[in-house]
Amino acid sequence: MSCIFCQIIQGKSNAYKIYEDELTIAFLDINPISNGHTLIVPKLHETKLENLPEEHSIALFKTVRELVGPIQKAMSTSSANIGINNGREAGQIIPHIHVHIIPRDENEPIWRSGRKNFSKKSKESFEEIALKIRKEIGF
Ligand code: 5GP
Ligand code: ZN
Repeated sequence: MSCIFCQIIQGKSNAYKIYEDELTIAFLDINPISNGHTLIVPKLHETKLENLPEEHSIALFKTVRELVGPIQKAMSTSSANIGINNGREAGQIIPHIHVHIIPRDENEPIWRSGRKNFSKKSKESFEEIALKIRKEIGF
């Protein structure tokens, strides 16, 4: 299986993991749109939401719901974009379904301006952000 998210799930690739349970995992997006941009991923490899079994879909959105508050709090905001690119034509690059949580505040560029306006992050910056979010989640 050459899927990068499956490799992260199996511990064969590194990620700034912020949460994990039996059916889901969450880690920072390596090319973030904003500070704290997190991907929530079901452990079962499936490309699109309509093909993800109900139990795994419920687990996925339960994790999204539980993490959005702490992620926002850790990033000192009360807003976030939550989204899925469901299929290639919708902009899906990684064919393993995932939910983006993108914390927002007035100092960050808006969704439509894209990530080209957001500066590259250092390893230290990723570690600091992951630490802050884990602390809020208690993970
Ligand atoms: P989508 O498939 O919804 O368009 O987005 C895939 C996301 O995965 C992108 O935002 C991209 O930055 C992120 N991504 C791609 N490869 C990796 C990786 O190896 N590690 C992490 N943490 N994120 C990745
Ligand atoms: Zn996969």
